[in-house]
Amino acid sequence: MKVSEILATSTKAFPSLEIVPPLRGLTKEELLESIAPFMEFKPKYINVTSHRDEFEYRQEADGSFSRHLVRNRISETTVCSAIMSRYDVDVVPHLICGGNTVEEIESRLDNLAFLGINNILALRGDSMTGEKRFTPTPGGYRYASELVEGIRNYQGSSTYRRSKGLDTDDRYFCIGVGAYPEKHFEAPNIETDIANLKKKVDAGADYIITQMFFDNNIYYNFVAKCRAAGITVPIIPGLKPLSTVRQIGTLPESFSLDIPLELTEAMKSAGDDRKAAYRIGAEWCTMQCKDLIAHGVPAVHFYTMGKSENIVSILQECF
Ligand code: FAD
Repeated sequence: MKVSEILATSTKAFPSLEIVPPLRGLTKEELLESIAPFMEFKPKYINVTSHRDEFEYRQEADGSFSRHLVRNRISETTVCSAIMSRYDVDVVPHLICGGNTVEEIESRLDNLAFLGINNILALRGDSMTGEKRFTPTPGGYRYASELVEGIRNYQGSSTYRRSKGLDTDDRYFCIGVGAYPEKHFEAPNIETDIANLKKKVDAGADYIITQMFFDNNIYYNFVAKCRAAGITVPIIPGLKPLSTVRQIGTLPESFSLDIPLELTEAMKSAGDDRKAAYRIGAEWCTMQCKDLIAHGVPAVHFYTMGKSENIVSILQECF
């Protein structure tokens, strides 16, 4: 089922869960085991993130340079396929502009359509390690809005469309996009960033998922600004429970966001007690989630980042 249809027909808030594909080495069984605890909650769909392979260049004895793969994850399409083969759940692969030409994107869309997947979260992707700013792949898309347009116009093969009884006007994919309640770090101000978000919606995005935030007022103000700017599609809040004291330093740097003083102090008070830090982070996130549901959000998106214990405790409390 398309996420847009789920959002249109749900009568109460539901959890939306995002997982990160494993680095090479993990088996399919280990991956499926790791998400088994989420399945108890009968999620309506699972998001699977997308990552570029990372390479480094090494100088050879003759002075030439050779390219070596140093880090790669199992592809989102493979992980989605594994999840669908085991669990009765829809999947939402992320698709990024970075590292793909327009033709390669089209080929990825063919693979997703082949598997019967008709949901995508369309993103630009981050810059590569060592790159200050995102550099578009030659022959690829520069902004997520262009990717949204490309996906919206995807027709698939005529044989495929005929077999599905699709009209050329029917859109095959339901498209979600990302947004930043505390502004994307490259945008000069929140107004410009929201104007750019509107371009993604005008290009065909059906719904929005936000970056994580730790103060719900930031989300409520952001939604009000989006509505004032003419964005009418659902805006799903994204949450992540802090799990270590270290994250009060790393998350603001990586994601350009604020962690409220009260939460910062509470996490610091855990000191070396890892269990206490884990519990404090989960309690704060539970409080945020309950408040969001009370405010009538359609769904709450969780960045699980390979951790299931804290997310499971939050789901038990809130849904
Ligand atoms: P865009 O919407 O293209 O925006 C990027 C920047 O360009 C913004 O500053 C925007 O204001 C500006 N901009 C946009 N359009 C224009 C325009 N026409 N003219 C001028 N400026 C413009 N990253 C991954 O690599 N893999 C993932 O799976 C992944 N999943 C994510 C899931 C969610 C819910 C979110 C919120 C983010 C995710 N990201 C992921 C991170 C994301 O790729 C980065 O934050 C990236 O830097 C921006 O992506 P975007 O799609 O928001 O880009």
